[in-house]
Amino acid sequence: MARINLLSPRLANQIAAGEVVERPASVVKELLENSLDAGATQLDVDIEQGGVRRIKIRDNGHGIVKDDLSLAMSRHATSKIVTLDDLEAVQTLGFRGEALASISSVSRMHLTSKAVGEDEAWRVEAEGKEMTTAVRPASHPEGATIEVRDLFFNTPARRKFLRTEKTEFNHLQEVVKRLALSRYDVGFRLSHNSKQVYDLRPVTDQLHAEHRLGTLLGKKFIENALTIDVEAAGLRLWGWIGLPTFSRSQADLQYFFVNGRVVRDKLVAHAVRQAYRDVLYNGRHPTFVLYLELDPSTVDVNVHPTKHEVRFRDGRLVHDFLFSRIHKVIADVRPESGEMPTQ
Ligand code: ADP
Ligand code: MG
Repeated sequence: MARINLLSPRLANQIAAGEVVERPASVVKELLENSLDAGATQLDVDIEQGGVRRIKIRDNGHGIVKDDLSLAMSRHATSKIVTLDDLEAVQTLGFRGEALASISSVSRMHLTSKAVGEDEAWRVEAEGKEMTTAVRPASHPEGATIEVRDLFFNTPARRKFLRTEKTEFNHLQEVVKRLALSRYDVGFRLSHNSKQVYDLRPVTDQLHAEHRLGTLLGKKFIENALTIDVEAAGLRLWGWIGLPTFSRSQADLQYFFVNGRVVRDKLVAHAVRQAYRDVLYNGRHPTFVLYLELDPSTVDVNVHPTKHEVRFRDGRLVHDFLFSRIHKVIADVRPESGEMPTQ
Protein backbone atom coordinates (compact mmCIF):
# COMPACT_ATOMS: atom_id res chain seq x y z
CA MET A 1 0.00 0.00 0.00
CA ALA A 2 1.35 3.43 -0.95
CA ARG A 3 1.94 5.77 1.95
CA ILE A 4 0.50 9.24 2.01
CA ASN A 5 2.79 12.20 1.53
CA LEU A 6 2.36 15.90 1.11
CA LEU A 7 2.75 17.25 -2.45
CA SER A 8 5.64 19.62 -2.96
CA PRO A 9 4.52 23.24 -3.39
CA ARG A 10 5.54 23.18 -7.05
CA LEU A 11 3.53 20.04 -7.77
CA ALA A 12 0.51 21.34 -5.85
CA ASN A 13 0.72 24.55 -7.86
CA GLN A 14 1.09 22.67 -11.12
CA ILE A 15 -2.04 20.71 -10.36
CA ALA A 16 -3.92 23.91 -9.52
CA ALA A 17 -2.56 25.44 -12.74
CA GLY A 18 -4.53 22.80 -14.63
CA GLU A 19 -7.69 24.72 -13.81
CA VAL A 20 -6.65 28.23 -14.73
CA VAL A 21 -3.67 28.02 -17.05
CA GLU A 22 -4.85 26.26 -20.17
CA ARG A 23 -2.82 28.15 -22.75
CA PRO A 24 -0.90 31.42 -23.26
CA ALA A 25 -4.19 33.32 -23.50
CA SER A 26 -5.11 32.29 -19.94
CA VAL A 27 -1.79 33.61 -18.66
CA VAL A 28 -2.41 36.94 -20.37
CA LYS A 29 -5.92 37.11 -18.92
CA GLU A 30 -4.71 36.53 -15.36
CA LEU A 31 -1.81 38.97 -15.65
CA LEU A 32 -3.83 41.75 -17.26
CA GLU A 33 -6.55 41.34 -14.65
CA ASN A 34 -3.90 41.74 -11.96
CA SER A 35 -2.64 44.92 -13.63
CA LEU A 36 -6.16 46.33 -13.83
CA ASP A 37 -6.77 45.43 -10.18
CA ALA A 38 -3.56 47.34 -9.39
CA GLY A 39 -5.10 50.47 -10.90
CA ALA A 40 -2.94 50.53 -14.01
CA THR A 41 -3.92 52.96 -16.76
CA GLN A 42 -1.48 51.69 -19.39
CA LEU A 43 -0.83 48.05 -20.25
CA ASP A 44 1.88 46.91 -22.63
CA VAL A 45 1.75 43.32 -23.81
CA ASP A 46 4.69 41.89 -25.75
CA ILE A 47 4.30 38.41 -27.16
CA GLU A 48 6.71 36.06 -28.86
CA GLN A 49 5.69 32.96 -30.75
CA GLY A 50 2.04 32.95 -29.79
CA GLY A 51 2.98 33.47 -26.15
CA VAL A 52 4.58 30.06 -25.80
CA ARG A 53 8.08 31.46 -26.03
CA ARG A 54 7.46 34.67 -24.12
CA ILE A 55 4.74 36.81 -22.60
CA LYS A 56 5.75 40.12 -21.13
CA ILE A 57 3.29 42.46 -19.52
CA ARG A 58 4.20 45.83 -18.16
CA ASP A 59 1.85 48.05 -16.20
CA ASN A 60 1.90 51.37 -14.36
CA GLY A 61 -0.22 50.24 -11.43
CA HIS A 62 0.60 50.55 -7.74
CA GLY A 63 3.11 47.71 -7.78
CA ILE A 64 4.02 45.32 -4.99
CA VAL A 65 6.08 46.31 -1.96
CA LYS A 66 9.36 44.42 -1.54
CA ASP A 67 8.21 42.57 1.56
CA ASP A 68 5.17 41.19 -0.28
CA LEU A 69 6.96 39.99 -3.39
CA SER A 70 7.63 36.47 -2.13
CA LEU A 71 4.13 36.15 -0.79
CA ALA A 72 2.61 37.28 -4.09
CA MET A 73 4.16 34.20 -5.68
CA SER A 74 2.66 31.74 -3.21
CA ARG A 75 -0.67 30.04 -3.44
CA HIS A 76 -3.67 31.41 -1.54
CA ALA A 77 -1.95 34.74 -1.17
CA THR A 78 -4.04 37.75 -2.16
CA SER A 79 -4.34 41.39 -1.22
CA LYS A 80 -7.93 41.50 -2.47
CA ILE A 81 -10.01 39.76 0.14
CA VAL A 82 -9.58 38.94 3.82
CA THR A 83 -12.94 37.56 4.88
CA LEU A 84 -15.84 35.71 3.33
CA ASP A 85 -17.83 38.93 3.57
CA ASP A 86 -15.31 40.59 1.26
CA LEU A 87 -15.91 37.85 -1.28
CA GLU A 88 -19.65 38.54 -1.21
CA ALA A 89 -19.11 42.02 -2.58
CA VAL A 90 -15.81 41.59 -4.39
CA GLN A 91 -15.12 44.35 -6.94
CA THR A 92 -11.69 43.23 -8.12
CA LEU A 93 -11.24 40.86 -11.04
CA GLY A 94 -9.08 38.52 -8.97
CA PHE A 95 -9.45 37.20 -5.44
CA ARG A 96 -8.36 33.55 -5.42
CA GLY A 97 -4.66 34.20 -4.97
CA GLU A 98 -3.70 31.42 -7.32
CA ALA A 99 -2.63 32.87 -10.66
CA LEU A 100 0.96 33.87 -9.98
CA ALA A 101 1.72 30.67 -8.08
CA SER A 102 0.14 28.57 -10.81
CA ILE A 103 1.80 30.34 -13.72
CA SER A 104 5.24 30.34 -12.10
CA SER A 105 5.01 26.59 -11.48
CA VAL A 106 4.57 25.81 -15.19
CA SER A 107 6.91 28.37 -16.78
CA ARG A 108 10.02 30.43 -16.25
CA MET A 109 8.50 33.48 -14.67
CA HIS A 110 9.82 36.55 -12.97
CA LEU A 111 8.17 39.62 -11.61
CA THR A 112 9.77 43.04 -11.31
CA SER A 113 8.09 45.86 -9.49
CA LYS A 114 8.51 49.20 -7.87
CA ALA A 115 5.73 49.97 -5.46
CA VAL A 116 4.21 53.41 -5.11
CA GLY A 117 6.16 55.29 -2.47
CA GLU A 118 9.21 53.01 -2.49
CA ASP A 119 12.62 54.08 -3.73
CA GLU A 120 13.83 50.87 -5.26
CA ALA A 121 12.57 48.23 -7.62
CA TRP A 122 12.87 44.50 -6.94
CA ARG A 123 12.65 41.35 -8.88
CA VAL A 124 11.40 37.98 -7.68
CA GLU A 125 11.54 34.48 -9.07
CA ALA A 126 10.36 31.17 -7.60
CA GLU A 127 12.61 28.19 -8.04
CA GLY A 128 12.76 24.47 -7.41
CA LYS A 129 10.34 22.00 -5.91
CA GLU A 130 9.81 24.14 -2.86
CA MET A 131 9.24 27.23 -5.00
CA THR A 132 11.66 29.18 -2.83
CA THR A 133 11.78 32.79 -3.85
CA ALA A 134 14.80 34.92 -4.55
CA VAL A 135 14.36 38.71 -4.38
CA ARG A 136 17.01 40.83 -6.07
CA PRO A 137 17.41 44.56 -6.74
CA ALA A 138 16.24 45.68 -10.16
CA SER A 139 15.39 48.75 -12.12
CA HIS A 140 11.77 49.58 -12.95
CA PRO A 141 9.47 52.62 -12.84
CA GLU A 142 6.40 52.55 -10.61
CA GLY A 143 4.32 49.54 -11.57
CA ALA A 144 5.12 45.97 -12.45
CA THR A 145 6.46 43.84 -15.26
CA ILE A 146 5.83 40.14 -15.41
CA GLU A 147 7.66 37.99 -17.82
CA VAL A 148 6.62 34.41 -18.52
CA ARG A 149 8.89 32.33 -20.72
CA ASP A 150 8.64 28.77 -22.02
CA LEU A 151 5.12 28.03 -20.86
CA PHE A 152 4.63 24.35 -19.95
CA PHE A 153 8.34 23.56 -20.45
CA ASN A 154 8.10 21.26 -17.44
CA THR A 155 4.60 19.87 -18.09
CA PRO A 156 4.83 18.00 -21.41
CA ALA A 157 1.27 16.70 -21.14
CA ARG A 158 0.01 20.28 -21.19
CA ARG A 159 2.37 21.39 -23.87
CA LYS A 160 0.98 18.76 -26.20
CA PHE A 161 -2.38 20.50 -26.19
CA LEU A 162 -0.97 23.76 -27.51
CA ARG A 163 -1.97 24.57 -31.06
CA THR A 164 -0.13 26.50 -33.74
CA GLU A 165 1.48 29.84 -32.97
CA LYS A 166 -1.25 31.56 -34.95
CA THR A 167 -4.10 29.85 -33.10
CA GLU A 168 -2.57 30.55 -29.72
CA PHE A 169 -2.04 34.18 -30.66
CA ASN A 170 -5.64 34.48 -31.85
CA HIS A 171 -6.88 33.27 -28.46
CA LEU A 172 -4.56 35.68 -26.75
CA GLN A 173 -5.63 38.61 -28.91
CA GLU A 174 -9.25 37.80 -28.08
CA VAL A 175 -8.42 38.09 -24.38
CA VAL A 176 -6.80 41.50 -24.90
CA LYS A 177 -9.78 42.56 -27.00
CA ARG A 178 -12.25 41.65 -24.26
CA LEU A 179 -10.31 43.47 -21.61
CA ALA A 180 -9.89 46.50 -23.88
CA LEU A 181 -13.68 46.47 -24.30
CA SER A 182 -14.13 46.32 -20.55
CA ARG A 183 -11.98 49.37 -19.77
CA TYR A 184 -12.04 52.26 -22.22
CA ASP A 185 -10.18 54.41 -19.71
CA VAL A 186 -7.10 52.20 -19.93
CA GLY A 187 -4.54 52.22 -22.74
CA PHE A 188 -3.60 48.88 -24.27
CA ARG A 189 -0.66 48.03 -26.48
CA LEU A 190 -0.18 44.61 -27.96
CA SER A 191 2.66 43.40 -30.10
CA HIS A 192 3.46 39.99 -31.55
CA ASN A 193 6.98 39.05 -32.63
CA SER A 194 7.88 42.76 -32.41
CA LYS A 195 5.01 43.80 -34.72
CA GLN A 196 2.44 46.15 -33.25
CA VAL A 197 -1.10 44.77 -33.27
CA TYR A 198 -2.94 47.31 -31.10
CA ASP A 199 -2.15 50.71 -29.73
CA LEU A 200 -5.33 51.79 -28.03
CA ARG A 201 -5.27 55.12 -26.24
CA PRO A 202 -7.28 55.61 -23.07
CA VAL A 203 -10.60 57.27 -23.88
CA THR A 204 -13.33 58.92 -21.86
CA ASP A 205 -16.01 59.96 -24.33
CA GLN A 206 -18.51 58.07 -26.45
CA LEU A 207 -17.00 59.08 -29.79
CA HIS A 208 -13.57 57.73 -28.94
CA ALA A 209 -15.09 54.66 -27.34
CA GLU A 210 -16.76 53.95 -30.67
CA HIS A 211 -13.45 54.44 -32.40
CA ARG A 212 -11.96 51.76 -30.15
CA LEU A 213 -14.92 49.50 -30.89
CA GLY A 214 -14.32 50.03 -34.59
CA THR A 215 -10.66 49.09 -34.24
CA LEU A 216 -11.43 45.97 -32.23
CA LEU A 217 -14.63 44.73 -33.87
CA GLY A 218 -14.65 46.36 -37.26
CA LYS A 219 -16.22 49.62 -38.47
CA LYS A 220 -19.20 47.71 -39.88
CA PHE A 221 -20.34 46.78 -36.40
CA ILE A 222 -20.38 50.30 -35.10
CA GLU A 223 -22.10 51.54 -38.28
CA ASN A 224 -24.81 48.94 -37.78
CA ALA A 225 -25.29 49.21 -34.05
CA LEU A 226 -27.79 51.01 -31.86
CA THR A 227 -26.81 52.39 -28.51
CA ILE A 228 -28.67 51.50 -25.39
CA ASP A 229 -28.48 52.92 -21.88
CA VAL A 230 -31.28 52.07 -19.50
CA GLU A 231 -31.71 51.75 -15.79
CA ALA A 232 -34.32 50.16 -13.58
CA ALA A 233 -34.59 48.33 -10.26
CA GLY A 234 -30.91 48.85 -9.47
CA LEU A 235 -29.81 47.46 -12.83
CA ARG A 236 -28.13 49.42 -15.58
CA LEU A 237 -27.64 48.14 -19.10
CA TRP A 238 -25.63 50.09 -21.63
CA GLY A 239 -23.68 49.43 -24.78
CA TRP A 240 -24.27 48.68 -28.42
CA ILE A 241 -26.61 46.20 -30.06
CA GLY A 242 -26.29 45.26 -33.68
CA LEU A 243 -29.20 45.85 -36.01
CA PRO A 244 -31.04 42.65 -36.91
CA THR A 245 -29.75 43.18 -40.45
CA PHE A 246 -26.21 42.92 -39.10
CA SER A 247 -26.57 39.35 -37.87
CA ARG A 248 -23.88 36.72 -38.25
CA SER A 249 -23.71 33.03 -39.04
CA GLN A 250 -21.70 32.49 -35.87
CA ALA A 251 -22.10 33.81 -32.35
CA ASP A 252 -18.67 35.44 -32.60
CA LEU A 253 -19.49 39.08 -32.07
CA GLN A 254 -21.16 38.90 -28.71
CA TYR A 255 -19.64 40.51 -25.68
CA PHE A 256 -21.39 40.71 -22.39
CA PHE A 257 -19.86 42.25 -19.31
CA VAL A 258 -21.19 42.04 -15.79
CA ASN A 259 -19.69 44.70 -13.55
CA GLY A 260 -16.76 44.97 -15.94
CA ARG A 261 -16.11 41.24 -16.07
CA VAL A 262 -16.63 39.43 -19.34
CA VAL A 263 -19.01 36.51 -18.85
CA ARG A 264 -20.62 33.76 -20.82
CA ASP A 265 -23.90 33.08 -19.19
CA LYS A 266 -26.84 30.94 -20.26
CA LEU A 267 -29.43 33.21 -18.73
CA VAL A 268 -28.00 36.25 -20.46
CA ALA A 269 -27.67 34.45 -23.77
CA HIS A 270 -31.27 33.29 -23.55
CA ALA A 271 -32.61 36.75 -22.75
CA VAL A 272 -30.79 38.30 -25.72
CA ARG A 273 -31.84 35.52 -28.08
CA GLN A 274 -35.46 35.97 -27.05
CA ALA A 275 -35.25 39.70 -27.64
CA TYR A 276 -34.10 39.10 -31.22
CA ARG A 277 -36.35 36.10 -31.83
CA ASP A 278 -38.87 37.74 -34.11
CA VAL A 279 -36.38 39.62 -36.25
CA LEU A 280 -33.65 37.08 -36.96
CA TYR A 281 -33.73 34.13 -39.31
CA ASN A 282 -33.05 30.74 -37.84
CA GLY A 283 -29.36 30.05 -37.53
CA ARG A 284 -28.42 33.74 -37.53
CA HIS A 285 -26.80 35.28 -34.46
CA PRO A 286 -27.16 38.81 -33.11
CA THR A 287 -24.16 41.05 -32.45
CA PHE A 288 -23.74 43.07 -29.29
CA VAL A 289 -21.39 44.64 -26.80
CA LEU A 290 -23.33 45.06 -23.60
CA TYR A 291 -22.52 46.11 -20.08
CA LEU A 292 -24.68 45.15 -17.14
CA GLU A 293 -24.02 46.92 -13.89
CA LEU A 294 -25.60 45.85 -10.65
CA ASP A 295 -24.92 45.66 -6.94
CA PRO A 296 -21.93 43.27 -6.64
CA SER A 297 -23.54 41.55 -3.68
CA THR A 298 -26.38 40.35 -5.95
CA VAL A 299 -24.08 38.41 -8.22
CA ASP A 300 -21.77 35.52 -7.34
CA VAL A 301 -18.57 35.48 -9.41
CA ASN A 302 -16.95 32.61 -7.58
CA VAL A 303 -18.61 29.90 -9.64
CA HIS A 304 -15.59 28.71 -11.59
CA PRO A 305 -11.81 29.28 -11.26
CA THR A 306 -11.68 31.16 -14.57
CA LYS A 307 -14.62 33.32 -13.40
CA HIS A 308 -16.27 33.21 -16.81
CA GLU A 309 -19.55 32.27 -15.20
CA VAL A 310 -21.67 34.18 -12.76
CA ARG A 311 -24.75 33.44 -10.72
CA PHE A 312 -27.39 36.13 -10.25
CA ARG A 313 -29.26 36.23 -6.97
CA ASP A 314 -32.40 37.24 -8.81
CA GLY A 315 -32.00 35.60 -12.20
CA ARG A 316 -35.62 36.22 -13.18
CA LEU A 317 -35.30 39.95 -12.63
CA VAL A 318 -32.10 40.14 -14.66
CA HIS A 319 -33.54 38.03 -17.48
CA ASP A 320 -36.72 40.08 -17.75
CA PHE A 321 -34.82 43.35 -17.60
CA LEU A 322 -32.44 42.32 -20.38
CA PHE A 323 -35.14 40.85 -22.56
CA SER A 324 -37.60 43.73 -22.27
CA ARG A 325 -35.04 46.50 -22.76
CA ILE A 326 -33.23 44.97 -25.71
CA HIS A 327 -36.51 43.95 -27.29
CA LYS A 328 -37.80 47.49 -27.03
CA VAL A 329 -34.76 48.99 -28.75
CA ILE A 330 -35.03 46.48 -31.57
CA ALA A 331 -38.79 46.84 -31.91
CA ASP A 332 -38.40 50.60 -32.30
CA VAL A 333 -36.38 50.16 -35.49
CA ARG A 334 -38.37 47.34 -37.04
CA PRO A 335 -39.57 48.12 -40.53
CA GLU A 336 -43.19 49.32 -40.54
CA SER A 337 -44.25 46.58 -42.88
CA GLY A 338 -43.29 44.08 -40.21
CA GLU A 339 -41.37 42.07 -42.77
CA MET A 340 -38.21 40.23 -41.94
CA PRO A 341 -35.20 42.44 -42.60
CA THR A 342 -33.09 41.45 -45.55
CA GLN A 343 -29.91 39.65 -44.59
P1 ADP B 1 -5.27 37.39 -6.98
O1 ADP B 1 -5.28 38.27 -8.18
O2 ADP B 1 -6.41 36.43 -6.96
O3 ADP B 1 -5.16 38.15 -5.69
P2 ADP B 1 -2.72 36.49 -8.01
O4 ADP B 1 -1.94 35.24 -7.80
O5 ADP B 1 -3.15 36.78 -9.38
O6 ADP B 1 -3.96 36.44 -7.04
O7 ADP B 1 -1.86 37.71 -7.45
C1 ADP B 1 -1.42 37.68 -6.09
C2 ADP B 1 -1.24 39.09 -5.55
O8 ADP B 1 -0.12 39.71 -6.15
C3 ADP B 1 -2.40 40.01 -5.80
O9 ADP B 1 -3.40 39.91 -4.80
C4 ADP B 1 -1.74 41.39 -5.80
O10 ADP B 1 -1.63 41.87 -4.49
C5 ADP B 1 -0.34 41.10 -6.30
N1 ADP B 1 -0.17 41.43 -7.74
C6 ADP B 1 -0.18 40.56 -8.77
N2 ADP B 1 0.05 41.20 -9.94
C7 ADP B 1 0.20 42.51 -9.64
C8 ADP B 1 0.45 43.70 -10.41
N3 ADP B 1 0.60 43.66 -11.73
N4 ADP B 1 0.56 44.88 -9.74
C9 ADP B 1 0.41 44.93 -8.39
N5 ADP B 1 0.18 43.85 -7.62
C10 ADP B 1 0.06 42.65 -8.22
MG1 MG C 1 -4.98 37.59 -10.11
